[in-house]
Amino acid sequence: MTKSIALLGSTGSIGRQTLEVCERMGIRVCALTAGRSLDLICEQARRYHPQLVSVARESDAAELRQRLADCRPAITVMHGQAGNIAAATIPEADTVVAAMVGVAGLEPVLAAIRCGRTIALANKETLVAGGALVMPLLSRYNSRIYPVDSEHSAIWQCLAAAPPKSLRRILLTASGGPFRGRSRQELNHVTLAQALNHPTWRMGGKITIDSATLMNKGLEVIEASWLFDCPTEKIEVVVHPQSIIHSMVELQDGSVLAQMGFPDMKLPIQLALTWPRRLPGDGRPFNPFDRQAGTLTFEQPDRQAFPLLQLAYDAARAGGTLPAVMNAANEVAVGLFLQERITFTVIADLVRQVMDRHMQSGFMTAFTFDDMMEQDRWARGQVLHLTGQTSASEDGRPGGC
Ligand code: MG
Repeated sequence: MTKSIALLGSTGSIGRQTLEVCERMGIRVCALTAGRSLDLICEQARRYHPQLVSVARESDAAELRQRLADCRPAITVMHGQAGNIAAATIPEADTVVAAMVGVAGLEPVLAAIRCGRTIALANKETLVAGGALVMPLLSRYNSRIYPVDSEHSAIWQCLAAAPPKSLRRILLTASGGPFRGRSRQELNHVTLAQALNHPTWRMGGKITIDSATLMNKGLEVIEASWLFDCPTEKIEVVVHPQSIIHSMVELQDGSVLAQMGFPDMKLPIQLALTWPRRLPGDGRPFNPFDRQAGTLTFEQPDRQAFPLLQLAYDAARAGGTLPAVMNAANEVAVGLFLQERITFTVIADLVRQVMDRHMQSGFMTAFTFDDMMEQDRWARGQVLHLTGQTSASEDGRPGGC
């Protein structure tokens, strides 16, 4: 069981809930990293007394250093990717919780694996873009990944009851997002506010938009494929709007196991930190007689209306650098949509165009971290080029953190 953590992405939804879990379980917090939420990370640093905090920008780090100057013992303040990597490899932490948004999470996770840390993984882009780099390192450095995403935690929990090689199929559940049942035509006219209004989960902007486009589910299919060594043809997305069943596995004998609960991320967070132990949680357990349980329903996803789901399957089948390119294009396109610079359906159009261009030139089946990052940058630039933008955000890292 985890005794101390480094938390990458402490001010986001998963980060804040991780700190609540740590406080309740008596788990020490050694390092915190965040993007730009200076007030919140300052407050967190005062409450949890980590040895190290890091933020995205140098100027913010300078301000934070002043604001934390009276802390004893002193807190080291860093910035940028060097700060993220220092946090990920801090010797005092046995587990690194990777809860930052976007592919920026990959490099610190690779560094943590090389130090033999346990990774509690909430950042799905790490495996989507870099699964081929990450997975071979785990056994070499005696590291392991425990999933935090609710669906992957569910699959992991179900597989704990399954003998090796008994998995036949994964049934990955999806809420369907706020636009379930709408046609491609109708989706041309949806607004940012409508897209941000997720029916069952309260999350950050990027993942909420990914849930509305079903790209989130596409990323989860690829993530599950790496985590559970299961080809994507054997991973089926099931739309289950109540979000009570968090995913299912079908075993060779035909038995289907499901993990259930009211939507609450603290349970998968806690489990990733206490595995293999099951300690008392503070969530409301599932009650079939509760009104919130409702009637459980299941339907096929609409791949015409939500083409990003199909694109994710296509990217996984091609493999190589294509999932990384797809992910990078999506990060920038979602960033542009969050700034209301493009409309909802244009996100998928842009991702498709960038993927097509990549397959025409630049595609690599085997790649290094540097190759991948080069294609990542190329894909980001392509989205900006296709939309006639010069930059998607003030710091030039559209969609990243
Ligand atoms: Mg999920």
